[in-house]
Amino acid sequence: MTHRTTLLDVVPLTRDTRHYVITKPSGYTFTPGQATEVAIDRDGLRDETRPFTFTSDPDADVLSFTIKSYFDHDGVTKELHSLKAGDSLLIGDPWGAIADNGPGVFLAGGAGITPFIGILSARARSGTLSGSTLVFANATERDIILRPLWEGMDGLVTVFVVEEESSGLRTGRIDEALLDSVIDDWGQRFYLCGPPKMEEHVAEILEKRGVPSDRITREE
Ligand SMILES: Cc1cc2nc3c(=O)[nH]c(=O)nc-3n(C[C@H](O)[C@H](O)[C@H](O)COP(=O)(O)OP(=O)(O)OC[C@H]3O[C@@H](n4cnc5c(N)ncnc54)[C@H](O)[C@@H]3O)c2cc1C
Repeated sequence: MTHRTTLLDVVPLTRDTRHYVITKPSGYTFTPGQATEVAIDRDGLRDETRPFTFTSDPDADVLSFTIKSYFDHDGVTKELHSLKAGDSLLIGDPWGAIADNGPGVFLAGGAGITPFIGILSARARSGTLSGSTLVFANATERDIILRPLWEGMDGLVTVFVVEEESSGLRTGRIDEALLDSVIDDWGQRFYLCGPPKMEEHVAEILEKRGVPSDRITREE
């Protein structure tokens, strides 16, 4: 089912990522980590649906998404970046994506952080963050989405990894050395979301350390 919604507010988070707040259709429900298909309600774009993850509190009166735009080609995310409050968006019903299966290590790359915004924020609200670690990889320090939110979450251990050297942050990518230095229990749950190559590489490391695939939560 398609729902017509109105863009209420847009908040820039990084050079290419913005927070979009939209009206919530009556009776619309979702769980943290779920996604839906989104299209711009404009001639020629209504059929161009793309999946995005809800980042709002399911109990809030509005819905929100955190969306990274790719300016190097004429796709939907580039168009989204030009939208203003009052514009109309079409959204579908919520579906699967990543579910909260308990405390663990959340491994994110770039916009792959979005399912964890919903899941970790819900845990923060219910005071159940203890025992969870966020390892968040980005190209540069200024690409880190919502850094103050992560650093302010009581009970969450945060490890930021950036490719460009930056004071106080780990330099490089999520590799064996980094994971060995951060993880002391390979028996816990792992969540993985990021660019396909990053996910493949990190999944291989987890497998090498003996983590069974049913302990790794990622998008199917
Ligand atoms: C379940 C799920 C949830 C998601 N949730 C989010 C979210 O919450 N926030 C978010 O930011 N993203 C999210 N994504 C990713 C998001 O759906 C994509 O970034 C989006 O669909 C890209 O749309 P587009 O029209 O801009 O790019 P498309 O045209 O669909 O292209 C997709 C990719 O192909 C490459 N590409 C295609 N054509 C070119 C070209 N000419 N030049 C260079 N590169 C090219 C780009 O890397 C681009 O990212 C999610 C994805 C999934 C599967």
